[in-house]
Amino acid sequence: MSTLADVLSRETREGELYDVLPDGRLRCYACGHQCPLPDGAIGVCKVRFNQSGRLRVPWGYVGGVQCDPIEKKPFFHAYPGALAYSFGMLGCDLHCGYCQNWVTSQALRDPAAVSPPMEARALELVADAVRMGARVLVSTYNEPLITSEWAVEIFKEAKAAGLVTGFVSNGNGTPKVLDYLRPWIDLYKVDLKSFDDRHYRELGGRLEPIKDTIRRLHAMDVWLEIVTLLIPGFNDSSDELTRLADFIANVSPDIPWHVTAFHSDYKMGDTPNTTAEMLRQAAAIGRRAGLRHVYAGNLPGAVGDLEDTRCAACKATLVARAGYRIRDYRITANGCCHACGTPVPGRFDAHFAGQLASQPSVIRLRR
Ligand code: SF4
Repeated sequence: MSTLADVLSRETREGELYDVLPDGRLRCYACGHQCPLPDGAIGVCKVRFNQSGRLRVPWGYVGGVQCDPIEKKPFFHAYPGALAYSFGMLGCDLHCGYCQNWVTSQALRDPAAVSPPMEARALELVADAVRMGARVLVSTYNEPLITSEWAVEIFKEAKAAGLVTGFVSNGNGTPKVLDYLRPWIDLYKVDLKSFDDRHYRELGGRLEPIKDTIRRLHAMDVWLEIVTLLIPGFNDSSDELTRLADFIANVSPDIPWHVTAFHSDYKMGDTPNTTAEMLRQAAAIGRRAGLRHVYAGNLPGAVGDLEDTRCAACKATLVARAGYRIRDYRITANGCCHACGTPVPGRFDAHFAGQLASQPSVIRLRR
Protein backbone atom coordinates (compact mmCIF):
# COMPACT_ATOMS: atom_id res chain seq x y z
CA MET A 1 0.00 0.00 0.00
CA SER A 2 1.30 3.50 -0.86
CA THR A 3 2.12 5.74 2.08
CA LEU A 4 1.01 9.35 2.14
CA ALA A 5 4.59 10.38 1.39
CA ASP A 6 4.62 8.06 -1.68
CA VAL A 7 1.41 9.60 -3.00
CA LEU A 8 2.69 13.11 -2.46
CA SER A 9 6.02 12.39 -4.14
CA ARG A 10 4.02 11.78 -7.36
CA GLU A 11 1.99 15.01 -6.99
CA THR A 12 4.89 17.30 -7.91
CA ARG A 13 6.49 19.28 -10.69
CA GLU A 14 9.74 21.20 -10.99
CA GLY A 15 9.74 24.29 -8.78
CA GLU A 16 10.89 27.83 -9.53
CA LEU A 17 12.23 28.95 -6.18
CA TYR A 18 15.69 27.46 -6.19
CA ASP A 19 19.26 27.86 -7.40
CA VAL A 20 22.01 25.35 -8.12
CA LEU A 21 24.98 25.84 -5.75
CA PRO A 22 28.60 25.58 -6.98
CA ASP A 23 28.91 22.14 -5.37
CA GLY A 24 25.83 20.85 -7.22
CA ARG A 25 23.41 20.99 -4.30
CA LEU A 26 20.15 22.91 -4.71
CA ARG A 27 19.26 25.89 -2.52
CA CYS A 28 15.50 26.22 -1.94
CA TYR A 29 14.19 29.74 -1.26
CA ALA A 30 10.54 28.99 -0.48
CA CYS A 31 11.00 29.47 3.25
CA GLY A 32 13.47 30.85 5.76
CA HIS A 33 15.23 27.50 6.20
CA GLN A 34 16.74 27.91 2.70
CA CYS A 35 17.67 24.22 2.72
CA PRO A 36 20.78 23.16 0.78
CA LEU A 37 19.70 19.85 -0.77
CA PRO A 38 22.06 17.20 -2.20
CA ASP A 39 20.61 14.82 -4.78
CA GLY A 40 17.90 12.66 -3.21
CA ALA A 41 17.48 14.88 -0.13
CA ILE A 42 14.16 16.22 1.10
CA GLY A 43 13.69 19.58 2.84
CA VAL A 44 12.73 20.23 6.45
CA CYS A 45 9.14 20.71 5.22
CA LYS A 46 9.06 17.09 3.91
CA VAL A 47 7.36 18.14 0.65
CA ARG A 48 10.16 19.63 -1.53
CA PHE A 49 13.06 17.48 -2.66
CA ASN A 50 16.06 17.24 -4.98
CA GLN A 51 15.49 14.64 -7.67
CA SER A 52 18.45 14.29 -10.03
CA GLY A 53 19.43 17.94 -9.74
CA ARG A 54 15.94 19.44 -10.03
CA LEU A 55 13.78 20.68 -7.18
CA ARG A 56 10.43 18.89 -7.13
CA VAL A 57 7.60 20.78 -5.41
CA PRO A 58 3.94 20.01 -4.55
CA TRP A 59 1.48 20.44 -7.40
CA GLY A 60 -2.04 19.51 -8.40
CA TYR A 61 -3.67 18.56 -5.11
CA VAL A 62 -5.24 20.06 -2.00
CA GLY A 63 -5.27 18.66 1.51
CA GLY A 64 -8.65 20.25 2.27
CA VAL A 65 -11.05 22.98 1.14
CA GLN A 66 -13.45 25.00 3.22
CA CYS A 67 -15.49 28.19 2.94
CA ASP A 68 -14.76 30.45 5.91
CA PRO A 69 -15.92 33.89 6.89
CA ILE A 70 -12.86 36.10 6.32
CA GLU A 71 -13.02 37.02 10.01
CA LYS A 72 -11.85 33.47 10.79
CA LYS A 73 -8.46 33.94 9.04
CA PRO A 74 -8.53 36.44 10.87
CA PHE A 75 -8.64 39.48 8.58
CA PHE A 76 -10.64 42.29 10.20
CA HIS A 77 -9.55 45.08 7.84
CA ALA A 78 -10.00 43.31 4.51
CA TYR A 79 -13.45 43.00 2.97
CA PRO A 80 -15.35 42.45 6.24
CA GLY A 81 -18.08 39.84 5.91
CA ALA A 82 -16.57 38.32 2.75
CA LEU A 83 -16.52 34.61 2.14
CA ALA A 84 -12.96 33.27 1.97
CA TYR A 85 -12.60 30.11 -0.11
CA SER A 86 -9.77 28.42 1.76
CA PHE A 87 -7.55 25.60 0.59
CA GLY A 88 -4.81 23.81 2.44
CA MET A 89 -1.97 21.57 1.36
CA LEU A 90 0.07 19.24 3.53
CA GLY A 91 3.24 19.71 5.52
CA CYS A 92 4.91 22.55 7.37
CA ASP A 93 8.39 23.97 7.90
CA LEU A 94 7.83 24.30 11.66
CA HIS A 95 6.56 21.76 14.20
CA CYS A 96 4.63 23.69 16.86
CA GLY A 97 3.43 21.46 19.68
CA TYR A 98 0.19 23.43 19.99
CA CYS A 99 -0.72 23.45 16.27
CA GLN A 100 -4.49 23.63 15.76
CA ASN A 101 -4.20 22.41 12.14
CA TRP A 102 -1.87 19.54 12.93
CA VAL A 103 -3.79 16.97 10.88
CA THR A 104 -2.71 18.78 7.70
CA SER A 105 0.43 20.58 8.80
CA GLN A 106 2.11 17.54 10.36
CA ALA A 107 0.69 14.88 8.01
CA LEU A 108 4.17 13.83 6.88
CA ARG A 109 5.88 14.07 10.26
CA ASP A 110 3.40 12.62 12.73
CA PRO A 111 1.88 9.15 12.16
CA ALA A 112 -1.26 10.24 14.07
CA ALA A 113 -1.95 12.96 11.52
CA VAL A 114 -3.76 11.42 8.55
CA SER A 115 -5.13 13.64 5.83
CA PRO A 116 -5.36 12.18 2.31
CA PRO A 117 -4.77 14.63 -0.55
CA MET A 118 -7.40 15.29 -3.24
CA GLU A 119 -6.39 15.93 -6.84
CA ALA A 120 -7.30 19.44 -7.97
CA ARG A 121 -6.82 21.82 -10.87
CA ALA A 122 -6.43 25.57 -10.45
CA LEU A 123 -9.31 26.44 -12.80
CA GLU A 124 -11.69 24.07 -11.00
CA LEU A 125 -10.86 25.47 -7.58
CA VAL A 126 -11.42 29.03 -8.76
CA ALA A 127 -14.68 28.12 -10.52
CA ASP A 128 -15.81 26.45 -7.31
CA ALA A 129 -14.91 29.55 -5.29
CA VAL A 130 -16.87 31.80 -7.65
CA ARG A 131 -19.84 29.41 -7.59
CA MET A 132 -19.85 29.55 -3.77
CA GLY A 133 -19.92 33.37 -3.81
CA ALA A 134 -16.41 33.82 -2.42
CA ARG A 135 -14.76 37.24 -2.70
CA VAL A 136 -11.40 35.99 -1.48
CA LEU A 137 -9.31 32.87 -2.10
CA VAL A 138 -6.82 31.93 0.61
CA SER A 139 -4.02 29.38 1.01
CA THR A 140 -4.16 28.32 4.64
CA TYR A 141 -4.34 25.40 7.17
CA ASN A 142 -0.75 24.26 6.55
CA GLU A 143 2.18 26.60 5.72
CA PRO A 144 1.51 28.08 2.27
CA LEU A 145 5.07 29.33 1.65
CA ILE A 146 6.30 25.76 1.08
CA THR A 147 3.79 25.36 -1.76
CA SER A 148 4.17 28.85 -3.24
CA GLU A 149 4.46 27.74 -6.89
CA TRP A 150 1.11 25.92 -6.72
CA ALA A 151 -0.48 28.84 -4.87
CA VAL A 152 0.66 31.25 -7.58
CA GLU A 153 -0.80 28.95 -10.26
CA ILE A 154 -4.17 29.12 -8.47
CA PHE A 155 -3.88 32.85 -7.69
CA LYS A 156 -3.31 33.69 -11.36
CA GLU A 157 -6.65 32.09 -12.19
CA ALA A 158 -8.25 33.71 -9.15
CA LYS A 159 -7.18 37.19 -10.17
CA ALA A 160 -8.39 36.58 -13.73
CA ALA A 161 -11.78 35.78 -12.16
CA GLY A 162 -11.75 38.99 -10.10
CA LEU A 163 -11.00 37.38 -6.73
CA VAL A 164 -8.78 38.74 -3.97
CA THR A 165 -5.97 36.40 -2.86
CA GLY A 166 -4.19 35.79 0.41
CA PHE A 167 -1.85 33.70 2.56
CA VAL A 168 -2.38 32.67 6.18
CA SER A 169 1.24 31.96 7.07
CA ASN A 170 3.85 31.64 9.77
CA GLY A 171 5.83 34.34 7.95
CA ASN A 172 9.05 32.32 7.74
CA GLY A 173 9.77 33.74 4.29
CA THR A 174 12.71 34.91 2.19
CA PRO A 175 13.10 38.01 0.00
CA LYS A 176 12.94 35.78 -3.09
CA VAL A 177 9.67 34.07 -2.23
CA LEU A 178 8.03 37.38 -1.31
CA ASP A 179 9.13 38.95 -4.61
CA TYR A 180 7.78 35.86 -6.39
CA LEU A 181 4.40 36.16 -4.67
CA ARG A 182 3.99 39.92 -4.85
CA PRO A 183 2.30 40.21 -8.29
CA TRP A 184 -0.35 37.67 -7.29
CA ILE A 185 -1.13 38.25 -3.63
CA ASP A 186 -3.25 40.93 -1.93
CA LEU A 187 -3.55 39.89 1.72
CA TYR A 188 -1.13 38.26 4.14
CA LYS A 189 -1.64 37.15 7.71
CA VAL A 190 1.52 36.47 9.68
CA ASP A 191 1.39 34.32 12.78
CA LEU A 192 3.97 36.03 15.02
CA LYS A 193 4.27 33.29 17.62
CA SER A 194 6.77 34.83 20.00
CA PHE A 195 9.38 37.56 20.22
CA ASP A 196 12.05 35.31 21.67
CA ASP A 197 14.43 33.55 19.28
CA ARG A 198 14.84 30.64 21.75
CA HIS A 199 11.09 30.02 21.59
CA TYR A 200 11.19 30.05 17.80
CA ARG A 201 14.02 27.53 17.81
CA GLU A 202 11.87 25.23 19.98
CA LEU A 203 9.27 25.38 17.19
CA GLY A 204 11.88 24.67 14.52
CA GLY A 205 12.46 28.20 13.21
CA ARG A 206 14.13 31.54 13.91
CA LEU A 207 12.66 34.93 14.77
CA GLU A 208 14.70 37.05 12.34
CA PRO A 209 13.21 35.75 9.03
CA ILE A 210 9.71 36.39 10.38
CA LYS A 211 10.56 39.97 11.37
CA ASP A 212 12.08 40.49 7.93
CA THR A 213 8.94 39.11 6.23
CA ILE A 214 6.76 41.52 8.20
CA ARG A 215 8.90 44.52 7.26
CA ARG A 216 9.02 43.50 3.59
CA LEU A 217 5.29 42.78 3.26
CA HIS A 218 4.47 46.19 4.68
CA ALA A 219 6.98 47.88 2.38
CA MET A 220 5.48 45.98 -0.60
CA ASP A 221 1.99 47.29 0.26
CA VAL A 222 0.54 43.81 0.72
CA TRP A 223 -2.28 44.17 3.26
CA LEU A 224 -0.90 42.65 6.45
CA GLU A 225 -2.49 41.57 9.72
CA ILE A 226 -0.61 39.86 12.56
CA VAL A 227 -1.84 37.22 14.98
CA THR A 228 -0.27 36.06 18.23
CA LEU A 229 -1.77 32.98 19.85
CA LEU A 230 -1.33 33.75 23.55
CA ILE A 231 -0.06 30.62 25.28
CA PRO A 232 0.16 30.71 29.09
CA GLY A 233 3.76 30.24 30.20
CA PHE A 234 5.15 30.30 26.65
CA ASN A 235 4.82 33.79 25.19
CA ASP A 236 2.60 35.75 27.58
CA SER A 237 5.14 37.64 29.72
CA SER A 238 4.55 41.38 29.62
CA ASP A 239 8.20 41.93 28.68
CA GLU A 240 7.97 39.70 25.60
CA LEU A 241 4.59 41.07 24.54
CA THR A 242 5.83 44.65 24.94
CA ARG A 243 8.84 43.98 22.70
CA LEU A 244 6.61 42.23 20.16
CA ALA A 245 4.02 45.04 20.08
CA ASP A 246 6.76 47.71 19.91
CA PHE A 247 8.21 45.95 16.88
CA ILE A 248 4.86 45.92 15.04
CA ALA A 249 4.17 49.54 15.94
CA ASN A 250 7.58 50.54 14.60
CA VAL A 251 6.79 48.88 11.27
CA SER A 252 3.38 50.60 11.27
CA PRO A 253 0.87 51.43 14.02
CA ASP A 254 -1.87 50.74 11.45
CA ILE A 255 -1.11 47.00 11.25
CA PRO A 256 -3.94 45.19 13.08
CA TRP A 257 -2.71 42.89 15.86
CA HIS A 258 -4.92 40.00 16.97
CA VAL A 259 -4.18 38.30 20.28
CA THR A 260 -6.07 35.04 20.34
CA ALA A 261 -6.86 32.49 23.01
CA PHE A 262 -5.06 29.14 23.17
CA HIS A 263 -7.12 25.99 23.76
CA SER A 264 -5.25 22.95 25.06
CA ASP A 265 -4.43 20.96 21.95
CA TYR A 266 -2.12 18.50 20.21
CA LYS A 267 1.03 17.95 22.31
CA MET A 268 0.26 20.72 24.82
CA GLY A 269 -2.83 19.26 26.47
CA ASP A 270 -1.49 20.11 29.94
CA THR A 271 -1.16 23.84 29.29
CA PRO A 272 -4.14 25.80 30.64
CA ASN A 273 -6.44 27.73 28.32
CA THR A 274 -5.94 31.46 27.83
CA THR A 275 -8.48 33.50 29.80
CA ALA A 276 -10.33 36.62 28.68
CA GLU A 277 -8.42 38.63 31.28
CA MET A 278 -5.09 37.50 29.77
CA LEU A 279 -6.29 38.67 26.34
CA ARG A 280 -7.37 42.03 27.76
CA GLN A 281 -3.95 42.54 29.39
CA ALA A 282 -2.13 41.66 26.16
CA ALA A 283 -4.40 44.02 24.20
CA ALA A 284 -3.61 46.82 26.67
CA ILE A 285 0.10 46.25 26.03
CA GLY A 286 -0.54 46.56 22.29
CA ARG A 287 -2.39 49.83 22.74
CA ARG A 288 0.34 51.22 25.01
CA ALA A 289 2.84 50.43 22.26
CA GLY A 290 0.83 52.68 19.95
CA LEU A 291 -1.01 50.07 17.89
CA ARG A 292 -4.28 51.57 16.67
CA HIS A 293 -6.20 48.35 15.99
CA VAL A 294 -5.86 45.57 18.55
CA TYR A 295 -8.27 42.63 18.72
CA ALA A 296 -8.89 39.72 21.06
CA GLY A 297 -10.01 36.47 19.44
CA ASN A 298 -11.23 32.92 20.11
CA LEU A 299 -13.41 33.91 23.11
CA PRO A 300 -16.46 35.47 21.42
CA GLY A 301 -18.62 37.59 23.68
CA ALA A 302 -16.08 37.54 26.55
CA VAL A 303 -13.75 40.39 25.57
CA GLY A 304 -16.00 43.47 25.42
CA ASP A 305 -15.35 45.70 22.43
CA LEU A 306 -12.07 43.97 21.54
CA GLU A 307 -13.89 42.21 18.69
CA ASP A 308 -14.98 45.51 17.12
CA THR A 309 -13.17 47.83 14.71
CA ARG A 310 -13.13 51.39 15.99
CA CYS A 311 -11.93 54.62 14.42
CA ALA A 312 -8.39 55.38 15.56
CA ALA A 313 -9.23 59.10 15.74
CA CYS A 314 -12.74 59.50 17.20
CA LYS A 315 -13.28 55.94 18.57
CA ALA A 316 -16.62 55.53 16.77
CA THR A 317 -17.51 51.87 16.20
CA LEU A 318 -17.01 51.04 12.52
CA VAL A 319 -17.56 47.27 12.46
CA ALA A 320 -19.31 45.56 15.37
CA ARG A 321 -18.71 41.80 15.63
CA ALA A 322 -19.79 38.81 17.68
CA GLY A 323 -17.20 36.16 16.95
CA TYR A 324 -17.08 35.91 13.14
CA ARG A 325 -20.51 37.53 12.72
CA ILE A 326 -20.77 41.15 11.58
CA ARG A 327 -23.41 42.89 13.72
CA ASP A 328 -23.02 46.36 12.22
CA TYR A 329 -20.95 47.95 9.45
CA ARG A 330 -20.31 51.69 9.22
CA ILE A 331 -17.30 52.26 6.98
CA THR A 332 -18.07 54.73 4.21
CA ALA A 333 -17.91 53.92 0.49
CA ASN A 334 -14.47 55.56 0.29
CA GLY A 335 -13.12 53.56 3.26
CA CYS A 336 -13.47 56.19 5.99
CA CYS A 337 -15.01 56.57 9.44
CA HIS A 338 -18.70 57.44 9.17
CA ALA A 339 -18.43 59.88 12.08
CA CYS A 340 -15.24 61.89 11.49
CA GLY A 341 -14.07 60.91 8.01
CA THR A 342 -10.68 59.50 9.07
CA PRO A 343 -9.44 56.87 6.56
CA VAL A 344 -9.57 53.30 7.89
CA PRO A 345 -6.43 51.29 7.10
CA GLY A 346 -7.19 48.16 5.09
CA ARG A 347 -8.90 47.00 1.93
CA PHE A 348 -12.63 47.66 1.63
CA ASP A 349 -15.27 47.43 -1.05
CA ALA A 350 -17.36 50.52 -1.70
CA HIS A 351 -20.41 48.83 -0.23
CA PHE A 352 -20.90 46.20 2.45
CA ALA A 353 -22.66 43.41 0.59
CA GLY A 354 -23.82 41.57 3.71
CA GLN A 355 -22.29 38.41 5.08
CA LEU A 356 -22.80 35.14 3.21
CA ALA A 357 -21.80 32.96 6.16
CA SER A 358 -20.64 33.58 9.70
CA GLN A 359 -19.63 29.94 10.20
CA PRO A 360 -17.15 27.75 8.30
CA SER A 361 -18.57 25.17 5.90
CA VAL A 362 -16.68 22.19 4.51
CA ILE A 363 -16.71 21.79 0.73
CA ARG A 364 -16.75 18.53 -1.19
CA LEU A 365 -14.92 19.19 -4.44
CA ARG A 366 -17.12 18.32 -7.44
CA ARG A 367 -15.51 15.95 -9.90
S1 SF4 B 1 10.33 25.06 1.69
FE1 SF4 B 1 11.73 25.54 3.34
S2 SF4 B 1 11.93 23.60 4.47
FE2 SF4 B 1 11.07 23.09 2.46
S3 SF4 B 1 12.86 22.61 1.17
FE3 SF4 B 1 12.38 24.78 0.86
S4 SF4 B 1 13.71 25.87 2.31
FE4 SF4 B 1 13.63 23.71 2.99
